[in-house]
Amino acid sequence: MSIKKSKELIFELSQAGRRAVDLPACDVPEATLESLIPARFLRKKPPSLPEVSQPDLMRHYTALSQRNFGVDSGFYPLGSCTMKYNPKVNEDAGRYPGFSLIHPLQPEATVQGALELLYNMEQYLAEISGMDAVTMQPVAGAHGELTGLKLIRAYHRQRGEQRTKVIVPDSAHGTNPATATVCGLETVEIKSHPDGSINLEALQAAVGPDTAALMLTNPSTLGLFESNIREIARIVHEAGGLLYYDGANANAIMGITRPGDMGFDVVHFNLHKTFSTPHGGGGPGSGPIGVKQELVPFLPVPVIVKDGGAYHLEQDRPLSIGKVHAFYGNFGVIVRAYAYIRAMGPDGLKQASEDAVLNANYCLSQLKDDFYAPFNRFCMHECIVTSKQQKQYGVRTLDIAKRLLDYGYHPPTIYFPLIVEEAMMIEPTETESKETLDAFIAAMRSIAEEAKTDAALITAAPQTTVVGRLDEALAARKPVVRWKE
Ligand SMILES: *Cc1c(COP(=O)(O)O)cnc(C)c1O
Repeated sequence: MSIKKSKELIFELSQAGRRAVDLPACDVPEATLESLIPARFLRKKPPSLPEVSQPDLMRHYTALSQRNFGVDSGFYPLGSCTMKYNPKVNEDAGRYPGFSLIHPLQPEATVQGALELLYNMEQYLAEISGMDAVTMQPVAGAHGELTGLKLIRAYHRQRGEQRTKVIVPDSAHGTNPATATVCGLETVEIKSHPDGSINLEALQAAVGPDTAALMLTNPSTLGLFESNIREIARIVHEAGGLLYYDGANANAIMGITRPGDMGFDVVHFNLHKTFSTPHGGGGPGSGPIGVKQELVPFLPVPVIVKDGGAYHLEQDRPLSIGKVHAFYGNFGVIVRAYAYIRAMGPDGLKQASEDAVLNANYCLSQLKDDFYAPFNRFCMHECIVTSKQQKQYGVRTLDIAKRLLDYGYHPPTIYFPLIVEEAMMIEPTETESKETLDAFIAAMRSIAEEAKTDAALITAAPQTTVVGRLDEALAARKPVVRWKE
């Protein structure tokens, strides 16, 4: 007899008539579906849903949750994603009935608290970023980018200018050029300097009367601070373009410096990264954007205005680009981020950034002998090492990432940014202790040692996970969800 693991699909556990809950007897007159819904909308036969007992249902979902890996199960140094720990008190705030049971179509007078929270959150983000106004409507970083470029386009059009080009460094996240394309603008890529910074001559050569904007991440996706940012801003502004700040890396700068002070005209935040709300798995996110004064007239409607003691949703904004999302964005995510900002306060946010930068530099300092570090200088909140030294043993970055799974770690981001060969981008975040970092560093060093002595251990990894090494393209196209022994 084989050892029992919870491996059946829930559909296979199904027994007709079994129920996970007993509903009370109906206390209103019963009516048939046929009498309520036109026949053409009715199914020919009932959907084949699993019918299981409550323990089976619970075990099914618990087993699924244990096959997953999240910030709550372990260290998750996925660079650029800022997988910091989400304090659970934020979840309590998100679930307050006054926030979770209201409806966006309620009259304004009955949702003043929610509007006040949105209004205050706009003020906080404006202060943190050094911008003049903020909209909470976009629901992801990429959505913030789209909204931001639409604002920039509207701004140029209003001034009677045809500007069609968006300059993007080659280190940029893929969403930057994708956004430009979706916006009907053309991407001009500029090559980074070998030290990872923007090449000022290349930028100067790229700008012109057709420049709509430069999109920049600072610190960059290489984890490096762009110290020439003032000069960069001058070059772009003198050519008549605007500066867009990809705020995905804001976790490195809170309370230390502000995109508004660096010369940026539009910034997006990823609340689900920097401000500690759940993310991953395609769940709800939030990508509010902040703008300088000249772009305020174009902000999406409605705009929340404070009039005396009351909050109103202002719709009548003739230059607005319109709506970019239903209602006011992902309100539940915003509540969680608000709770986080309030709990941290200005000093706490600054300390979070300082600790994030300290943790990344600690990792870099401890790893740079065993792994190649392409940028020999201080990093910000994330660092890059590569598998260049392991290449001679036939070990690549993908292998190291898979081997980390055997050690119980979520791997760092790999093969991004694209301009670093065999990159591993490690973002420890501020919420990890020195002991956790040391254990991760020990695992990385152990893998570096294995590469020399027993490379097959690495190239055959992972061995301890539910599934081994997948043909990833095939797995995405033809997923097999059944557990195989
Ligand atoms: C995550 C990220 C984005 C996109 O943000 P989403 O919220 O995932 O849409 C853009 N740029 C950088 C550098 C990122 O890390």
